[in-house]
Amino acid sequence: MQQDDKSQHEELSESTRLVHDARHDRGAISPPIYQSSLFSFTDYDSMIARFRGDSDHALYSRVDNPTVVELQKKVAQLEGGEACLAFGSGMAAISNAILSVAGPGDKVVCVNHVYPDTYRFLRGFCTRFQIESQFVDGSSLAVLEDAMQGAKLLYLESPNSWVMGEQNLRAIAELAKKYGVVTMIDNSWASPIFQKPLAAGIDLVIHSASKYISGHSDVVAGLVVSSTEHINAINRHISPFLGGKLSANEAWLLLRGLRTLPLRMRQHQESALELAHRLQGYSRITQVNHPGLDPLPTSTLTGYSGLFSFELSEGIDIPTFCNALKLFRMGVSWGGFESLVMPAISVLNQVGEFNSAIDFGVSPRVIRISIGLEDTEDLWRDLKNAIESACS
Ligand SMILES: *Cc1c(COP(=O)(O)O)cnc(C)c1O
Repeated sequence: MQQDDKSQHEELSESTRLVHDARHDRGAISPPIYQSSLFSFTDYDSMIARFRGDSDHALYSRVDNPTVVELQKKVAQLEGGEACLAFGSGMAAISNAILSVAGPGDKVVCVNHVYPDTYRFLRGFCTRFQIESQFVDGSSLAVLEDAMQGAKLLYLESPNSWVMGEQNLRAIAELAKKYGVVTMIDNSWASPIFQKPLAAGIDLVIHSASKYISGHSDVVAGLVVSSTEHINAINRHISPFLGGKLSANEAWLLLRGLRTLPLRMRQHQESALELAHRLQGYSRITQVNHPGLDPLPTSTLTGYSGLFSFELSEGIDIPTFCNALKLFRMGVSWGGFESLVMPAISVLNQVGEFNSAIDFGVSPRVIRISIGLEDTEDLWRDLKNAIESACS
């Protein structure tokens, strides 16, 4: 594997760089999938050099599978970070990253409306390690500044789950530096195409690559991008032991997804913004939560993805609405080619400890929708028909 000429690379735009991979043996356009658990050495000295850390010869696929390493390089460059680590899921990325910063006796401040399993991880699992969490309104700088006192880590998700609330990344990063707090953000919603948190001063960026980076609803994966120092803290002290590695096959699918990511994001943005505007003007909708409808002056978003939510008025029967949809499927996750709906009532009824939808007060009238790559007018007709047929 040779890298393309670097000086030439830096002048190219993001979408061009994403299409052009490193050059591969035999002129293969698509990277090889290294389906091998271990990588052998040709001689004694090269093996010793690898263990001494003087060589980047691949060793073992829990640590440095070359297909996974190629994905990591590409994502690090895309987010503007020094290094990246890939994981077998977004939650593996989140748990490894949090545990690399916070330890016994530390306090984590986390914004409200984070991803439900992030909430459960902090509220439940982390307390076993004497890591305490405080959940706060991420839209208030004063509240955040107050909570940051004595904290080790500030965990952000912007825009966040269900309500798509944004946080002021630049101002928060500045405050966190003042108080010596490490900052981390779940950037899955915007994807690296529409938000670059590292450039805003945030320390670590996390993606559930199961969403837009995959884009084809066929992979579960996670990514962390940061400085070499933060990434080393994870891959020396945490990830080898938790072992949540990404497979070469899934890394390959993500490399494929990256080539069309800018193109797909533009289409998701266009359709979702159009549908959000139409829903906002529709009589049976009481609220639309989409960060593009009333953009914040402090926003670091350079575009909008396809995920937003709205509230159906009291007269609309939610089960009838869901069942009347023909193009939108009902299901969890988002970010794929297919449009999906997810009524908040389903997560409000979810059994188990620490229900974030209940604790953060998500309204039972909320419907989350992920706008896929279908024709916008077809999607609008489907939504309108379902709303009308669910009116009492
Ligand atoms: C899906 C999701 C996750 C978890 O990712 P997995 O790949 O499912 O483990 C984390 N954060 C957000 C915002 C998500 O939507």
